[in-house]
Amino acid sequence: MPVSRILRSLSLKTILALLLLLVMAACSKDYVTGRSSYNWYKIDQDIKLGKEVLNSQLAALQKGQNYKGKAIEVDVDEAQLARIRGIVSRLAKVSHLPDLPYEVHLAEIPVVNAWAAPGGKVMVYSGLWDPEKGLVKKENDDELAAVLAHELAHATARHVTESLSTNMTIMMAGTVATSAIGATGSSMGQNLFSNFFSYGFNVFAPSYSRKNESEADLIGIFYMAKAGYNPEAAVAVWQRAAKQRGDKTSIFASHPASGDRAKALAQWLPEAQKIYQNPSLPYPNFRELPKNPKPQASQAKSP
Ligand SMILES: [Zn+2]
Repeated sequence: MPVSRILRSLSLKTILALLLLLVMAACSKDYVTGRSSYNWYKIDQDIKLGKEVLNSQLAALQKGQNYKGKAIEVDVDEAQLARIRGIVSRLAKVSHLPDLPYEVHLAEIPVVNAWAAPGGKVMVYSGLWDPEKGLVKKENDDELAAVLAHELAHATARHVTESLSTNMTIMMAGTVATSAIGATGSSMGQNLFSNFFSYGFNVFAPSYSRKNESEADLIGIFYMAKAGYNPEAAVAVWQRAAKQRGDKTSIFASHPASGDRAKALAQWLPEAQKIYQNPSLPYPNFRELPKNPKPQASQAKSP
């Protein structure tokens, strides 16, 4: 039975009590920052969800309407795949969740993107290092690590399930409101997950909030530094990204405002450099570092 129908059959009082209980029960500890975070999911469910995304992506690529003959793990550059797997393995070891079942896949398709699904399943498209349209240089480990560390941070900070939890609460609150006015047909049944992975040309592309992007930048630059990759590459890569445009499947669409992000990364660089020079140093308290600078537009509005 859809959740919406169950909810409509309950009294308003019961729904409100249930909602309060869920809000209280959902507060769990964030593995990365140590602060409390709002997440209904257990880490096992992150892993299961990520597997589903990856399997859907692999199946879509295998059907290969758009990229015939370039299906997943077929015709791939084995040396490059080994390089990426090596980088992800080094990053995973220094991450806050080193024991996730990390897995790396490469598809030889002209899409400028890479992502890590919840639970650490990583997908990379070879367009990422396309000499003309790409974001990084193919054989530059530091640049590859900058992108991969950022993506892994989305997984270790559990941005997808955290956001799904918040959205579900908002929708349940919406259902309470419509129940209260006697309306029918509220839609808890819609697939919230599709909000995160937009789909086009057989390719999945995640979209996160600006807050999540900033957090992944912050965590990512420290992961790469601790794993032995020069954190300056993160600033360089996102400066470059700020000057590029792409379709909805590209990393440029899913990672907007790169100019501001490069500036924020430059602020965190000195701290990251300390870890790069001495990887045995612990991570700083992420909450005490300077925040992402505000976008130009909102600065102009302030008095
Ligand atoms: Zn991101």
